[in-house]
Amino acid sequence: MNTKNSTVVERFLKYVAFDTQSDGNSDTTPSTHSQWLLAHALKAELEAMGLENISLDEHAYLMATLPANQLPVTGYRLPVVGFIAHLDTSPDMSGANVKPRIVENYDGGDIVLNAAEKVVLSPKLFPELLQYKGEDLIVTDGTTLLGADDKAGIAEIMTAIEYLQQHPEIPHGKVRIAFNPDEEIGCGAHLFDVAQFGCDWAYTMDGGELGELEYENFNAATAIVRIKGLNVHPGYAKDKMRNASLLATQFATAMPQADRPERTTDYEGFFHLTAISGTVEEATLTYIVRDHDAKKFEQRLATLQHLTSEFNKVYPADTVMLHIKQQYRNMREIVEPQKHIIDLAKQAMLEAGITPVVRPIRGGTDGAQLSFKGLPCPNIFAGGVNFHGRYEFVPIQSMEKAVEVIVNIVKGVGGKTQ
Ligand SMILES: [Zn+2]
Repeated sequence: MNTKNSTVVERFLKYVAFDTQSDGNSDTTPSTHSQWLLAHALKAELEAMGLENISLDEHAYLMATLPANQLPVTGYRLPVVGFIAHLDTSPDMSGANVKPRIVENYDGGDIVLNAAEKVVLSPKLFPELLQYKGEDLIVTDGTTLLGADDKAGIAEIMTAIEYLQQHPEIPHGKVRIAFNPDEEIGCGAHLFDVAQFGCDWAYTMDGGELGELEYENFNAATAIVRIKGLNVHPGYAKDKMRNASLLATQFATAMPQADRPERTTDYEGFFHLTAISGTVEEATLTYIVRDHDAKKFEQRLATLQHLTSEFNKVYPADTVMLHIKQQYRNMREIVEPQKHIIDLAKQAMLEAGITPVVRPIRGGTDGAQLSFKGLPCPNIFAGGVNFHGRYEFVPIQSMEKAVEVIVNIVKGVGGKTQ
C-alpha cells in the first residue's frame, strides 16, 4: 500500500483545528456545542465522498455506509464490520487553538515545544519517544493537547474508506463507520444506536501506540460505605460516643492493603479509596473496585460485604451501610467466544508489518459498553502517545499504518487478504 502523500495527515490537521473538548458537568449529549461543528464538517465530507445512509442524529452520532462492491455468494452473507472513533477531546486540557507542528525525521533528541514557556518533549521523561527515531512526529505548541485522541482515529477511518473507494479491485462487503461524542466523559456509548449501526462487530480506533489491540478491560463497581456515629457532648462522652470519622479510618485500615492502584499492575485488581469525608455523626468512604477476572471481582465485593457485617457485629446493627453500584464489565466475555474478531485484527496488523501488542486495559472503554449492548468491539491503536496533555504527539507513520490495518481488516472480511 502506497502511503506516500497520504491524506491522513491533511485530514488530521484539519480536524484538530476544531475545539471539541467535552464537559463532564454538562447534562446534554453532546456535552458541548463545539462537537456539533466537527460532526457537521465530517457529515459534509462523507457526503462529498458519496457514502450512503449518512445519518447525524440529535445527539451528534454520525454514521455512514461504504456499500459492498462484491456480490455475496448465494446462501452466504458477508459480515458487516464497523469502525468507530470519537469526536471529543479530554476535559483535562484545552483543545482550543491547537497549533500542531510536524517534526520531520525525529533525531532522538529533545523537542522544544514552547521556548517561552520552557515546555520540552524529552526522551529523558518520555523514553518511548526513542522508538520513533527517524519518523515524523506531529507535536503541540506546548499550550494545548493535540487531539490525536481521537482525531487520529477519525482521520484514519476516513482515509481508509477513501482508499477503498479508489481501489474498487479490492472486493469487500458492507462497511459501516460511526463517530460519536463524549467518549472522554464516559458517555460515548450510552446513546449509541447499535441496531441502527447494524454491524456484526466493530473496532474502535482509539488505542495508543502502534500495534495496540485491546479486548480486555476491568469489571468495575463503585462502593459507598456510610457509617453512622453517635454524637454526645465530648465532656460527657465516656462510654457513649461513637465517632463515625474514626470508624471510617478503621474500616479503611481493615481493607486489604496490598490491593491498591499504587501497588498493582497488569491483571491485578484493586480497591481504590477515592474519597473520604466525615463528622462525628456520620462518615462516608467511596471506593472504586476493579478486577479483570469476574470471579475475583465478585470476591472483592464479598470482601466489602464481609467487613461491613463484621463492623455491624461489633457496633450496633446498621452502623455501617454498604451500597454497591455496578459500572461496567470486562468485554472479554463477549469478544473472546468470537475469536475471529481478534484474529482478523491481528492478521491485519501482521500483514501491515506490525507486531500486535495485546494488553489488558486498566480501565474501561466505549467498546466494553458497546460489546454488552450487542456489538462486540475491541480497540485498535490510533497511534497517539501521551494522551490528554501538552506532551501528546502522534507519529505520522503510525497513522499511516492504522489506515493500512483498517483496509486489511476490510479485505479480510471480504475473504481475500491479498
Ligand atoms: Zn479516546
